[in-house]
Amino acid sequence: MSHERIFCIAGAGIAGLTLALALAQHGAKKIIVLEKNEKIQEFGAGLQLGPNAHRALDSLGLEPTLKKVSFEPEGVDIFAFKQKKPLTTLKLGATAKEKFGVPYSVIHRADLVETLYKQVKKTKNIEVYFGVLDFELTNQELNPSISFKCKDGFEKKITAHAFIGADGVCSVTRTTILDGPQSKYSGYVAWRTLIDIDKLKDVIDLNNTSLMWGAGFHAVAYPLPHRNKVNIAIFTKETMSVGFGIRQEPSLPASIKSCSRLSKILELAQEWKHWPLAAVSTPIWHKGVVGLIGDAAHAMLPFQAQGAAMGIEDAVTLAPLLINEKTAVTAFEKYEKKRQARVNKVVKTSANNGKIFHMSAPLSYARDITVKLQGNMNHFTRLGWIYDFNPLD
Ligand SMILES: Cc1cc2nc3c(=O)[nH]c(=O)nc-3n(C[C@H](O)[C@H](O)[C@H](O)COP(=O)(O)OP(=O)(O)OC[C@H]3O[C@@H](n4cnc5c(N)ncnc54)[C@H](O)[C@@H]3O)c2cc1C
Repeated sequence: MSHERIFCIAGAGIAGLTLALALAQHGAKKIIVLEKNEKIQEFGAGLQLGPNAHRALDSLGLEPTLKKVSFEPEGVDIFAFKQKKPLTTLKLGATAKEKFGVPYSVIHRADLVETLYKQVKKTKNIEVYFGVLDFELTNQELNPSISFKCKDGFEKKITAHAFIGADGVCSVTRTTILDGPQSKYSGYVAWRTLIDIDKLKDVIDLNNTSLMWGAGFHAVAYPLPHRNKVNIAIFTKETMSVGFGIRQEPSLPASIKSCSRLSKILELAQEWKHWPLAAVSTPIWHKGVVGLIGDAAHAMLPFQAQGAAMGIEDAVTLAPLLINEKTAVTAFEKYEKKRQARVNKVVKTSANNGKIFHMSAPLSYARDITVKLQGNMNHFTRLGWIYDFNPLD
Protein backbone atom coordinates (compact mmCIF):
# COMPACT_ATOMS: atom_id res chain seq x y z
CA MET A 1 0.00 0.00 0.00
CA SER A 2 2.60 2.56 1.11
CA HIS A 3 4.71 1.72 -1.97
CA GLU A 4 1.96 3.16 -4.16
CA ARG A 5 2.11 6.56 -2.50
CA ILE A 6 3.18 9.66 -4.43
CA PHE A 7 4.16 12.87 -2.64
CA CYS A 8 4.58 16.44 -3.79
CA ILE A 9 6.87 18.89 -1.96
CA ALA A 10 7.14 22.64 -2.60
CA GLY A 11 10.73 23.84 -2.07
CA ALA A 12 14.10 22.22 -2.72
CA GLY A 13 15.80 23.78 0.32
CA ILE A 14 17.30 21.94 3.28
CA ALA A 15 13.94 20.74 4.66
CA GLY A 16 12.37 19.83 1.30
CA LEU A 17 15.36 17.84 0.02
CA THR A 18 15.74 16.03 3.36
CA LEU A 19 12.06 15.08 3.26
CA ALA A 20 12.34 13.81 -0.33
CA LEU A 21 15.26 11.56 0.66
CA ALA A 22 13.51 10.33 3.81
CA LEU A 23 10.29 9.51 1.90
CA ALA A 24 12.30 7.60 -0.71
CA GLN A 25 14.12 5.70 2.02
CA HIS A 26 10.82 4.65 3.60
CA GLY A 27 9.42 3.32 0.32
CA ALA A 28 7.44 6.09 -1.39
CA LYS A 29 6.63 5.30 -5.01
CA LYS A 30 7.47 8.76 -6.31
CA ILE A 31 8.40 12.15 -4.84
CA ILE A 32 7.95 15.29 -6.91
CA VAL A 33 9.75 18.42 -5.71
CA LEU A 34 8.74 21.83 -7.07
CA GLU A 35 11.41 24.55 -6.81
CA LYS A 36 10.80 28.12 -7.84
CA ASN A 37 14.48 28.88 -8.54
CA GLU A 38 16.02 27.71 -11.78
CA LYS A 39 18.70 25.74 -9.97
CA ILE A 40 19.71 24.68 -6.49
CA GLN A 41 20.44 27.77 -4.36
CA GLU A 42 24.16 28.29 -3.92
CA PHE A 43 24.01 31.45 -1.86
CA GLY A 44 24.02 31.78 1.90
CA ALA A 45 26.83 31.48 4.37
CA GLY A 46 27.76 29.24 7.27
CA LEU A 47 25.50 26.99 9.31
CA GLN A 48 26.23 25.24 12.58
CA LEU A 49 24.97 21.66 12.58
CA GLY A 50 24.29 20.33 16.07
CA PRO A 51 24.50 16.61 16.90
CA ASN A 52 20.71 16.33 16.56
CA ALA A 53 20.94 17.45 12.91
CA HIS A 54 23.85 15.08 12.28
CA ARG A 55 21.93 12.15 13.77
CA ALA A 56 19.01 12.79 11.41
CA LEU A 57 21.26 13.23 8.36
CA ASP A 58 23.22 10.12 9.32
CA SER A 59 19.98 8.13 9.13
CA LEU A 60 19.92 9.04 5.42
CA GLY A 61 23.50 7.83 4.89
CA LEU A 62 24.90 11.35 4.41
CA GLU A 63 27.57 11.43 7.13
CA PRO A 64 30.56 10.32 4.97
CA THR A 65 29.90 13.13 2.45
CA LEU A 66 29.18 15.69 5.15
CA LYS A 67 32.45 14.89 6.87
CA LYS A 68 34.34 15.94 3.73
CA VAL A 69 32.69 19.37 3.52
CA SER A 70 32.23 20.33 7.17
CA PHE A 71 34.51 21.25 10.06
CA GLU A 72 34.31 20.24 13.73
CA PRO A 73 35.37 23.18 15.91
CA GLU A 74 37.14 22.14 19.11
CA GLY A 75 35.13 24.60 21.19
CA VAL A 76 33.32 27.93 21.45
CA ASP A 77 35.31 30.93 22.74
CA ILE A 78 32.88 33.30 24.45
CA PHE A 79 34.14 36.87 24.63
CA ALA A 80 32.69 39.69 26.69
CA PHE A 81 32.95 43.02 24.85
CA LYS A 82 36.51 44.28 24.36
CA GLN A 83 37.98 41.43 26.45
CA LYS A 84 41.23 39.90 25.17
CA LYS A 85 40.66 36.49 26.73
CA PRO A 86 37.49 34.41 26.46
CA LEU A 87 35.27 34.12 29.54
CA THR A 88 35.25 30.41 28.81
CA THR A 89 35.77 27.98 25.93
CA LEU A 90 32.83 25.60 25.74
CA LYS A 91 33.98 22.14 24.70
CA LEU A 92 32.91 20.76 21.33
CA GLY A 93 35.03 18.61 18.97
CA ALA A 94 35.95 15.17 20.29
CA THR A 95 34.16 15.81 23.61
CA ALA A 96 30.85 16.49 21.85
CA LYS A 97 31.29 13.50 19.58
CA GLU A 98 32.01 11.23 22.52
CA LYS A 99 29.01 12.54 24.43
CA PHE A 100 26.46 12.46 21.58
CA GLY A 101 27.90 9.82 19.26
CA VAL A 102 27.81 12.25 16.30
CA PRO A 103 29.67 15.51 15.63
CA TYR A 104 28.92 19.18 16.17
CA SER A 105 30.09 20.78 12.94
CA VAL A 106 30.02 23.93 10.85
CA ILE A 107 29.38 23.91 7.11
CA HIS A 108 28.69 26.29 4.24
CA ARG A 109 24.94 26.22 3.51
CA ALA A 110 25.60 25.58 -0.19
CA ASP A 111 27.68 22.49 0.71
CA LEU A 112 24.87 21.07 2.81
CA VAL A 113 22.29 21.68 0.08
CA GLU A 114 24.66 20.25 -2.55
CA THR A 115 25.20 17.11 -0.40
CA LEU A 116 21.43 16.62 -0.17
CA TYR A 117 20.88 17.34 -3.86
CA LYS A 118 23.62 14.93 -5.02
CA GLN A 119 21.89 12.17 -3.06
CA VAL A 120 18.51 13.20 -4.54
CA LYS A 121 19.95 12.92 -8.05
CA LYS A 122 21.10 9.38 -7.27
CA THR A 123 17.60 8.42 -6.09
CA LYS A 124 15.53 7.23 -9.05
CA ASN A 125 12.06 7.97 -7.73
CA ILE A 126 12.66 11.64 -6.84
CA GLU A 127 11.94 14.20 -9.58
CA VAL A 128 12.88 17.85 -9.05
CA TYR A 129 11.28 20.50 -11.27
CA PHE A 130 13.06 23.87 -11.33
CA GLY A 131 11.75 27.29 -12.34
CA VAL A 132 8.25 26.53 -11.04
CA LEU A 133 6.22 29.71 -11.53
CA ASP A 134 3.04 28.64 -9.89
CA PHE A 135 1.23 25.65 -8.46
CA GLU A 136 -2.45 25.09 -7.79
CA LEU A 137 -4.08 22.55 -5.55
CA THR A 138 -7.52 21.04 -5.68
CA ASN A 139 -9.01 18.51 -3.31
CA GLN A 140 -7.23 19.27 -0.05
CA GLU A 141 -9.13 16.63 1.87
CA LEU A 142 -7.96 13.48 0.08
CA ASN A 143 -5.47 12.78 -2.72
CA PRO A 144 -4.81 16.38 -3.79
CA SER A 145 -4.38 17.25 -7.46
CA ILE A 146 -1.49 19.58 -8.11
CA SER A 147 -1.04 21.50 -11.36
CA PHE A 148 2.18 23.38 -11.89
CA LYS A 149 3.81 25.50 -14.55
CA CYS A 150 7.52 26.08 -15.15
CA LYS A 151 9.35 29.06 -16.68
CA ASP A 152 10.24 27.05 -19.80
CA GLY A 153 6.53 26.42 -20.50
CA PHE A 154 6.46 22.88 -19.10
CA GLU A 155 3.14 22.07 -17.39
CA LYS A 156 2.06 19.01 -15.45
CA LYS A 157 -0.80 17.78 -13.30
CA ILE A 158 -0.31 15.06 -10.69
CA THR A 159 -2.34 13.40 -7.99
CA ALA A 160 -0.53 12.79 -4.71
CA HIS A 161 -1.11 11.20 -1.31
CA ALA A 162 -0.06 14.46 0.38
CA PHE A 163 1.35 17.92 -0.42
CA ILE A 164 4.09 19.34 1.80
CA GLY A 165 5.10 22.99 1.86
CA ALA A 166 8.85 23.26 2.53
CA ASP A 167 8.85 26.65 0.84
CA GLY A 168 10.61 28.65 3.53
CA VAL A 169 9.84 31.72 5.60
CA CYS A 170 7.64 33.34 2.90
CA SER A 171 5.77 30.07 2.23
CA VAL A 172 2.77 30.41 -0.07
CA THR A 173 1.65 26.98 1.10
CA ARG A 174 1.22 28.48 4.59
CA THR A 175 -0.32 31.80 3.57
CA THR A 176 -2.39 30.84 0.53
CA ILE A 177 -3.31 27.17 0.84
CA LEU A 178 -3.55 26.91 4.65
CA ASP A 179 -4.72 30.52 5.16
CA GLY A 180 -1.96 30.91 7.73
CA PRO A 181 -0.13 34.07 8.84
CA GLN A 182 2.56 36.05 7.04
CA SER A 183 6.02 35.98 8.59
CA LYS A 184 6.84 38.90 10.89
CA TYR A 185 10.00 41.00 11.11
CA SER A 186 11.75 40.10 14.38
CA GLY A 187 13.49 43.41 15.08
CA TYR A 188 16.93 41.92 14.33
CA VAL A 189 19.18 42.15 11.29
CA ALA A 190 21.97 39.67 10.46
CA TRP A 191 25.10 41.06 8.79
CA ARG A 192 27.06 38.36 7.01
CA THR A 193 30.42 38.16 5.32
CA LEU A 194 33.17 35.65 4.49
CA ILE A 195 36.83 36.55 5.09
CA ASP A 196 39.93 34.67 3.85
CA ILE A 197 41.01 32.32 6.59
CA ASP A 198 44.70 33.31 6.63
CA LYS A 199 43.80 36.97 7.23
CA LEU A 200 42.20 36.08 10.58
CA LYS A 201 44.81 33.75 12.03
CA ASP A 202 46.02 36.37 14.53
CA VAL A 203 42.53 37.68 15.31
CA ILE A 204 40.55 34.62 16.44
CA ASP A 205 41.38 31.00 17.25
CA LEU A 206 40.71 29.16 14.02
CA ASN A 207 40.21 25.82 15.76
CA ASN A 208 37.18 27.25 17.54
CA THR A 209 33.94 29.12 16.99
CA SER A 210 34.05 32.64 18.49
CA LEU A 211 30.96 34.14 20.10
CA MET A 212 31.41 37.86 20.84
CA TRP A 213 28.94 39.75 23.01
CA GLY A 214 28.28 43.50 23.05
CA ALA A 215 25.53 45.80 24.30
CA GLY A 216 22.76 45.54 21.70
CA PHE A 217 24.55 43.17 19.34
CA HIS A 218 26.56 39.94 19.11
CA ALA A 219 28.87 38.37 16.56
CA VAL A 220 29.67 34.78 15.63
CA ALA A 221 32.73 33.65 13.65
CA TYR A 222 33.83 30.18 12.60
CA PRO A 223 36.16 28.75 9.98
CA LEU A 224 35.04 26.89 6.88
CA PRO A 225 38.48 25.43 6.03
CA HIS A 226 37.47 23.53 2.88
CA ARG A 227 36.46 26.92 1.43
CA ASN A 228 39.43 28.79 2.95
CA LYS A 229 37.04 31.26 4.54
CA VAL A 230 35.83 32.33 7.95
CA ASN A 231 32.08 32.84 8.25
CA ILE A 232 31.18 36.01 10.17
CA ALA A 233 27.70 37.04 11.27
CA ILE A 234 26.89 40.14 13.34
CA PHE A 235 23.37 40.45 14.73
CA THR A 236 21.95 43.88 15.59
CA LYS A 237 18.59 45.39 16.52
CA GLU A 238 17.11 47.58 13.81
CA THR A 239 13.87 49.56 13.52
CA MET A 240 11.99 48.52 10.43
CA SER A 241 8.83 49.49 8.64
CA VAL A 242 6.05 46.94 8.08
CA GLY A 243 7.21 43.72 6.43
CA PHE A 244 10.80 43.44 5.37
CA GLY A 245 11.25 47.02 4.14
CA ILE A 246 13.98 48.87 5.97
CA ARG A 247 13.01 52.44 6.85
CA GLN A 248 16.48 53.64 6.12
CA GLU A 249 19.65 51.83 5.13
CA PRO A 250 20.79 50.16 8.36
CA SER A 251 24.37 50.46 9.53
CA LEU A 252 26.46 48.55 12.01
CA PRO A 253 26.57 50.27 15.45
CA ALA A 254 29.65 52.52 15.76
CA SER A 255 30.40 51.05 19.21
CA ILE A 256 31.45 47.76 17.60
CA LYS A 257 34.71 49.38 16.48
CA SER A 258 35.86 49.97 20.05
CA CYS A 259 36.55 46.24 20.36
CA SER A 260 39.92 45.59 18.70
CA ARG A 261 38.96 42.07 17.55
CA LEU A 262 35.74 43.24 15.90
CA SER A 263 37.39 46.37 14.53
CA LYS A 264 39.95 44.15 12.75
CA ILE A 265 37.12 42.00 11.34
CA LEU A 266 35.33 45.14 10.06
CA GLU A 267 38.55 46.31 8.46
CA LEU A 268 39.09 42.98 6.66
CA ALA A 269 35.52 42.45 5.46
CA GLN A 270 35.09 43.43 1.83
CA GLU A 271 31.31 43.54 1.82
CA TRP A 272 28.50 42.93 4.27
CA LYS A 273 25.15 41.51 3.24
CA HIS A 274 22.38 42.46 5.61
CA TRP A 275 19.49 40.14 6.19
CA PRO A 276 16.35 41.21 8.09
CA LEU A 277 15.36 38.26 10.28
CA ALA A 278 11.73 37.21 10.10
CA ALA A 279 9.91 34.68 12.23
CA VAL A 280 6.82 32.54 11.71
CA SER A 281 4.46 31.61 14.50
CA THR A 282 1.44 29.44 13.79
CA PRO A 283 -0.03 26.39 15.52
CA ILE A 284 -1.54 25.27 12.20
CA TRP A 285 0.97 23.09 10.43
CA HIS A 286 -1.54 21.20 8.34
CA LYS A 287 -5.07 21.19 6.95
CA GLY A 288 -6.38 17.98 5.42
CA VAL A 289 -3.58 16.40 3.42
CA VAL A 290 -1.47 19.58 3.09
CA GLY A 291 1.25 20.15 5.69
CA LEU A 292 4.26 22.35 6.44
CA ILE A 293 7.85 21.64 7.47
CA GLY A 294 10.96 23.73 8.17
CA ASP A 295 10.92 27.53 8.04
CA ALA A 296 7.53 27.41 6.31
CA ALA A 297 6.08 26.19 9.63
CA HIS A 298 8.37 27.81 12.20
CA ALA A 299 11.11 30.19 10.96
CA MET A 300 12.91 31.33 14.12
CA LEU A 301 15.73 33.58 15.29
CA PRO A 302 19.07 31.90 14.58
CA PHE A 303 20.53 32.54 18.06
CA GLN A 304 20.57 28.85 19.03
CA ALA A 305 21.74 27.86 15.50
CA GLN A 306 18.90 25.34 15.17
CA GLY A 307 16.55 26.56 12.39
CA ALA A 308 17.83 24.21 9.70
CA ALA A 309 18.24 21.43 12.26
CA MET A 310 14.54 21.69 13.16
CA GLY A 311 13.58 21.42 9.47
CA ILE A 312 15.81 18.34 9.12
CA GLU A 313 14.22 16.78 12.22
CA ASP A 314 10.72 17.60 10.87
CA ALA A 315 11.54 15.79 7.63
CA VAL A 316 12.81 12.57 9.16
CA THR A 317 9.92 12.53 11.64
CA LEU A 318 7.21 13.13 9.05
CA ALA A 319 8.42 10.72 6.34
CA PRO A 320 7.74 7.41 8.12
CA LEU A 321 4.36 8.72 9.34
CA LEU A 322 3.32 9.63 5.80
CA ILE A 323 4.29 6.16 4.63
CA ASN A 324 2.94 4.09 7.52
CA GLU A 325 -0.18 5.92 8.69
CA LYS A 326 -3.45 4.96 7.04
CA THR A 327 -4.12 8.52 5.91
CA ALA A 328 -2.02 11.63 5.40
CA VAL A 329 -4.36 13.45 7.79
CA THR A 330 -3.44 11.20 10.72
CA ALA A 331 0.23 11.36 9.68
CA PHE A 332 0.16 15.18 9.90
CA GLU A 333 -1.74 15.07 13.22
CA LYS A 334 0.87 12.76 14.76
CA TYR A 335 3.68 14.82 13.27
CA GLU A 336 2.32 18.02 14.87
CA LYS A 337 2.02 16.27 18.23
CA LYS A 338 5.57 14.96 18.03
CA ARG A 339 7.14 18.21 16.85
CA GLN A 340 5.37 21.32 18.10
CA ALA A 341 6.33 21.36 21.78
CA ARG A 342 9.98 20.72 20.96
CA VAL A 343 10.14 23.34 18.19
CA ASN A 344 8.40 25.93 20.40
CA LYS A 345 10.95 25.30 23.16
CA VAL A 346 13.81 25.85 20.69
CA VAL A 347 12.10 29.06 19.43
CA LYS A 348 11.94 30.37 23.03
CA THR A 349 15.53 29.37 23.77
CA SER A 350 16.74 31.20 20.64
CA ALA A 351 14.81 34.37 21.51
CA ASN A 352 16.09 34.26 25.08
CA ASN A 353 19.67 33.91 23.84
CA GLY A 354 19.18 37.17 21.94
CA LYS A 355 18.33 38.94 25.20
CA ILE A 356 21.28 37.39 27.07
CA PHE A 357 23.85 37.95 24.29
CA HIS A 358 22.85 41.64 23.89
CA MET A 359 22.76 42.65 27.59
CA SER A 360 24.29 45.96 28.66
CA ALA A 361 25.95 46.82 31.96
CA PRO A 362 25.28 46.18 34.80
CA LEU A 363 23.31 43.02 33.84
CA SER A 364 26.12 41.93 31.54
CA TYR A 365 28.54 41.79 34.52
CA ALA A 366 26.32 39.25 36.27
CA ARG A 367 25.95 37.29 33.02
CA ASP A 368 29.73 37.17 32.50
CA ILE A 369 30.40 35.98 36.05
CA THR A 370 27.73 33.27 35.68
CA VAL A 371 29.21 32.05 32.40
CA LYS A 372 32.69 31.87 33.95
CA LEU A 373 31.39 29.95 36.97
CA GLN A 374 29.39 27.52 34.84
CA GLY A 375 32.59 26.23 33.24
CA ASN A 376 33.23 24.68 29.87
CA MET A 377 30.92 21.64 30.00
CA ASN A 378 27.72 23.25 31.28
CA HIS A 379 26.20 23.64 27.81
CA PHE A 380 26.03 19.84 27.46
CA THR A 381 23.69 19.72 30.46
CA ARG A 382 21.78 22.92 29.65
CA LEU A 383 21.29 22.07 25.97
CA GLY A 384 21.39 18.27 26.16
CA TRP A 385 17.65 18.17 25.37
CA ILE A 386 18.42 19.74 21.99
CA TYR A 387 21.52 17.75 21.05
CA ASP A 388 20.66 14.32 22.46
CA PHE A 389 17.35 14.15 20.63
CA ASN A 390 16.72 11.36 18.14
CA PRO A 391 13.80 12.19 15.81
CA LEU A 392 13.62 8.54 14.78
CA ASP A 393 12.66 7.37 18.29
C1 LIG B 1 21.83 34.53 9.66
C2 LIG B 1 21.29 33.14 9.81
C3 LIG B 1 22.05 32.16 10.41
C4 LIG B 1 21.55 30.87 10.57
N1 LIG B 1 22.31 29.93 11.20
C5 LIG B 1 21.83 28.69 11.37
C6 LIG B 1 22.64 27.69 11.99
O1 LIG B 1 23.78 27.93 12.36
N2 LIG B 1 22.11 26.44 12.14
C7 LIG B 1 20.84 26.12 11.72
O2 LIG B 1 20.41 24.96 11.91
N3 LIG B 1 20.06 27.06 11.14
C8 LIG B 1 20.52 28.32 10.94
N4 LIG B 1 19.76 29.26 10.32
C9 LIG B 1 18.39 28.90 9.88
C10 LIG B 1 18.39 28.19 8.54
O3 LIG B 1 19.11 28.92 7.56
C11 LIG B 1 16.96 27.96 8.07
O4 LIG B 1 16.17 27.50 9.13
C12 LIG B 1 16.90 26.94 6.94
O5 LIG B 1 17.67 27.35 5.84
C13 LIG B 1 15.45 26.73 6.51
O6 LIG B 1 15.41 25.71 5.55
P1 LIG B 1 14.07 25.44 4.73
O7 LIG B 1 14.40 24.36 3.77
O8 LIG B 1 12.93 25.30 5.66
O9 LIG B 1 13.80 26.80 3.95
P2 LIG B 1 14.68 27.48 2.81
O10 LIG B 1 16.12 27.20 2.99
O11 LIG B 1 14.25 28.90 2.76
O12 LIG B 1 14.20 26.74 1.49
C14 LIG B 1 12.94 26.98 0.91
C15 LIG B 1 13.01 26.59 -0.56
O13 LIG B 1 11.70 26.74 -1.12
C16 LIG B 1 11.78 27.45 -2.35
N5 LIG B 1 10.50 28.13 -2.57
C17 LIG B 1 10.03 29.24 -1.94
N6 LIG B 1 8.80 29.54 -2.41
C18 LIG B 1 8.48 28.61 -3.35
C19 LIG B 1 7.36 28.38 -4.18
N7 LIG B 1 6.31 29.19 -4.16
N8 LIG B 1 7.40 27.33 -5.03
C20 LIG B 1 8.45 26.49 -5.08
N9 LIG B 1 9.57 26.66 -4.30
C21 LIG B 1 9.57 27.70 -3.45
C22 LIG B 1 12.97 28.40 -2.15
O14 LIG B 1 13.50 28.85 -3.37
C23 LIG B 1 13.95 27.50 -1.37
O15 LIG B 1 14.73 26.71 -2.22
C24 LIG B 1 20.24 30.56 10.12
C25 LIG B 1 19.47 31.53 9.49
C26 LIG B 1 19.98 32.81 9.33
C27 LIG B 1 19.13 33.83 8.64
